[in-house]
Amino acid sequence: MTTVTRAEAGPRDGASTRVAINGFRGRLISPDHADYDDARAVWNGAIDRRPRLIAQCIGTADVVAAVRFARDQDLEIAIRGGGHNVAGAAVCDDGIVIDLSAMRGVRVDPAACRAWVQGGALWGDVDHETQAHGLATTGGIVSHTGVAGLTLGGGVGWLMRKHGLTVDNLLAVELVTAGGELLRVSLDEHPDLFWALRGGGGNFGVVTSFEFRLHAVGPTVLAGPILWDASDAGEVLRLYRDFVRDAPDELGTVVRFGAAPPLPAIPADLHGRPVVMVGTCYAGPIEEGERRLRSFRTFRTPLLDLIGPAPYAGFQSAMDSTVVHGWNYYWKSTYLPELREDLIDVIVEHAFSCSSPRSYALIFHLKGAVSRVAGGATAFGNRQASHAITLDAVWRPGEDFGERDSDWTRRFFTALGRFREGVYVNFLGGDEEPDRIRDAYGDSVYQRLVDVKTTYDPDNVFHHNQNIRPR
Ligand SMILES: Cc1cc2nc3c(=O)[nH]c(=O)nc-3n(C[C@H](O)[C@H](O)[C@H](O)COP(=O)(O)OP(=O)(O)OC[C@H]3O[C@@H](n4cnc5c(N)ncnc54)[C@H](O)[C@@H]3O)c2cc1C
Repeated sequence: MTTVTRAEAGPRDGASTRVAINGFRGRLISPDHADYDDARAVWNGAIDRRPRLIAQCIGTADVVAAVRFARDQDLEIAIRGGGHNVAGAAVCDDGIVIDLSAMRGVRVDPAACRAWVQGGALWGDVDHETQAHGLATTGGIVSHTGVAGLTLGGGVGWLMRKHGLTVDNLLAVELVTAGGELLRVSLDEHPDLFWALRGGGGNFGVVTSFEFRLHAVGPTVLAGPILWDASDAGEVLRLYRDFVRDAPDELGTVVRFGAAPPLPAIPADLHGRPVVMVGTCYAGPIEEGERRLRSFRTFRTPLLDLIGPAPYAGFQSAMDSTVVHGWNYYWKSTYLPELREDLIDVIVEHAFSCSSPRSYALIFHLKGAVSRVAGGATAFGNRQASHAITLDAVWRPGEDFGERDSDWTRRFFTALGRFREGVYVNFLGGDEEPDRIRDAYGDSVYQRLVDVKTTYDPDNVFHHNQNIRPR
């Protein structure tokens, strides 16, 4: 390995141990560094891991150097993008974290409707830069989620029914392989790997840059939530089922069950009240959205209707404060079919029996453009599911809801047993049965992922993730 520069974590920045990686220009943080605890913390406060070294990269060459160093030293590798993974895949015990959180650059070519996004960017970074041109691509519904992990698992969000999953808008990546080699990967370059990266997660290398296709969106869209009392949940879900069955692709919806969160837009007297909240985002002309949503909005008497013209980028961050960094989280999740009567009964029976005012269940409506891409065209699992549900126990440090609400998610998940249709890999938690990863893909996609993994990472260097094991 050639020595270009030498980064050291020494007395200069508060650490007492000197660590050096040839060719590395970013920050190296070892356990005795003053910033160690901040640097090892991830979004889920329930994750408490102590890596031997955190390599905060500032460019692709740093990533190459860090991968080579880890292999030379036989260190376990965790890759950190946005650090949002609920299972805490971004940080490991006793190994090295290849941390891309300082690599958040986004470049947009508005004429070509393209964006280039670095591997540590968050969705808020992408929306900010693309919306300056009235453009967007499908991203997550919380703006502090990382682009990398979300994209590599598939990517669901408000725009997916119109513009496809995030991976359906992925044109190319730059990736550092297990051997420390830099590859450009696209439909024409290493197509087998490009297929695997569109759903197969962080199993194949460290992505330093993504190239996305953009679409005209907003910058003002018709969006917002509408809230009904929890006692209306069954009726609202029946209406919702019929309404979304024929909904236009432009309409993205997410249903949230739980206590009304203390958001500024929600009047204080509703905070904490059990509600069913249907979030909407219409990615088309506002008047058309108004017309399409009219019947739904006048059903029964909603407690609150906040649907109206809103800046798309602002709407993308509207729920950020309900899922704060450093709180504790435990998730269970599954895909679901259309909301049949018996499924609605199960949801209504369990949805409101959590204890924490911050725990909730969410149902994403899929279909539309997601389901029109052939199964197996990318490594994303179930494109025909109607919905994905996540059951999310949330408790703050010092609160004692953790065990009770984690049990609630497990009971709810068990009750959904006969309806389950696989799972979105990015919603898997940390203590899942091993067969749930295969469940996320189905047998044929999984076998193909094993083939690609065996070709590009036969030693399973990148295994601190929802792991596809090589042969
Ligand atoms: C509050 C919240 C809201 C969410 N909303 C959505 C949503 O709307 N839609 C959706 O699809 N998902 C959503 N998710 C799930 C999200 O997709 C996953 O949590 C995803 O793992 C986040 O990616 P990250 O880069 O932030 O995570 P990290 O924890 O940094 O990484 C996750 C995985 O990706 C790998 N990885 C990270 N960066 C790279 C890289 N540069 N190269 C290669 N591998 C890498 C890691 O090794 C790890 O295995 C949400 C999650 C949370 C916590």
